[in-house]
Amino acid sequence: MSKNTTAQLQQADRNHHLHPFTDFKQYSATGGRIFSRAEHIYIYDSEDNQFLDGMSGLWCCNLGYSQPKIIEAVNQQMQQLPYYNNFFNCSNQPAAEMAKALVEVTPDGFNNVFFTNSGSEANDTNIRLVHRYYDLLEKPNKKLIIGRKNGYHGSTIAAASLGGMEFMHKQYRGIDYVHHIDQPHWFAEGGDSDKNEFGLQVARQLEAKIDELGEENVAAFIAEPIQGAGGVIIPPDSYWPEIQRICNERDILLISDEVICGFGRTGNWFGCETYNYQPDLITFAKAVTNGFQPLGGVMVGDKVANVLKTNDGEFGHGLTYSGHPASCAAGLATLSIMQEQNIVENTAQTIAPYLQQQLRSLSDHPIVGEVRGTGMVAAIELVKNKNSREKIADDSAAAVFCRDQAINNGLMVRAVGDAMVTAPPMVSSKDEIDQLVQRLHRALDATAKEYNIK
Ligand code: PMP
Repeated sequence: MSKNTTAQLQQADRNHHLHPFTDFKQYSATGGRIFSRAEHIYIYDSEDNQFLDGMSGLWCCNLGYSQPKIIEAVNQQMQQLPYYNNFFNCSNQPAAEMAKALVEVTPDGFNNVFFTNSGSEANDTNIRLVHRYYDLLEKPNKKLIIGRKNGYHGSTIAAASLGGMEFMHKQYRGIDYVHHIDQPHWFAEGGDSDKNEFGLQVARQLEAKIDELGEENVAAFIAEPIQGAGGVIIPPDSYWPEIQRICNERDILLISDEVICGFGRTGNWFGCETYNYQPDLITFAKAVTNGFQPLGGVMVGDKVANVLKTNDGEFGHGLTYSGHPASCAAGLATLSIMQEQNIVENTAQTIAPYLQQQLRSLSDHPIVGEVRGTGMVAAIELVKNKNSREKIADDSAAAVFCRDQAINNGLMVRAVGDAMVTAPPMVSSKDEIDQLVQRLHRALDATAKEYNIK
């Protein structure tokens, strides 16, 4: 393979590569950074600049980049059986073993999995499963799904329709049987109300929406335990118990989209355990293979699985790569590392509280309005005025500036709205968390200076 220079790679990329969530015109004018290698929690660009990865890739490399066991497992599987499908009564060893391994790590009552390649496809699959479930129960009118504004469930037409990202909805015609209620974003939308009172109010919108649409027409409610892409929206304590009450009282299914929260991010294996609710379906992807291979899926709870598995008739849904042997081999290796090293438990006891505590030290900074987070995920809201929560600039410009400053300081973080978001790998050390917080502090200082806030 020819070794192109950075300039040649950038040129090829600008000219020919259409990137996800990118302004194509702007990118073809400016180009971007080419990443070439990674080690532990650090990524390196083609000029060997080092960055501490405060986002675990795209919320997926929870164990960092140096995991030879996963690579070895994929390598071995590729040599033995690089591909075979799971249609027509066929399976393969890693897919069967991965199904069983997932049952072990997911909450009680989850004994079945449907594999996909991504979180988006898993959420499309949720719709198919839920519709099939109610059809089999002879309730064919139950087709409507309720999601949340500013929720993110993926980018396929169906997954993006489940999500509540308005700027995405504006760019295509979505499916018409999804409805949205407000998000539990107290800092942005709660005003002066009591946090828990606000949590109850927004949760009760679900009840009102079910009544408006008719319980006989509503199939499911889908939500992330913590909205990730929406800006790490930590729900008030009152929120999930109220959602659980409403779902229990009504005949609708609860889907917990754990694509970000799953596999330890919130301090437990799954976000629904952190917030103590019992979903009927769980969406997973990303960290299930530590991001090393594409794999997603739906964990199907017994209530739904029992109906699906005791009725005749084919479920007309599936993907060429559902249960791909190499992806499942990566998943098996990832889960075994997590179990052998007690990653979730150790993280919850040591590095997660340390991260949260160190980030809270930024609360006194003149442009920080709120630091929120749990486990290994957090957001820092930037404000001009702490009391009024006035924004620093329009169009999230201050957060974008701050993110660019962080990147210039060797720290990969994300800007969402007016917040800085971080979700570092669970294998980070205390020294590395100190480094992350120091670099973030410098970026905040530079932003305060830029906007002349003292
Ligand atoms: N659900 C959630 C909660 C997500 O955060 C994401 C991706 N960020 C998805 C679904 C979509 O996953 P994918 O990009 O693998 O399709």
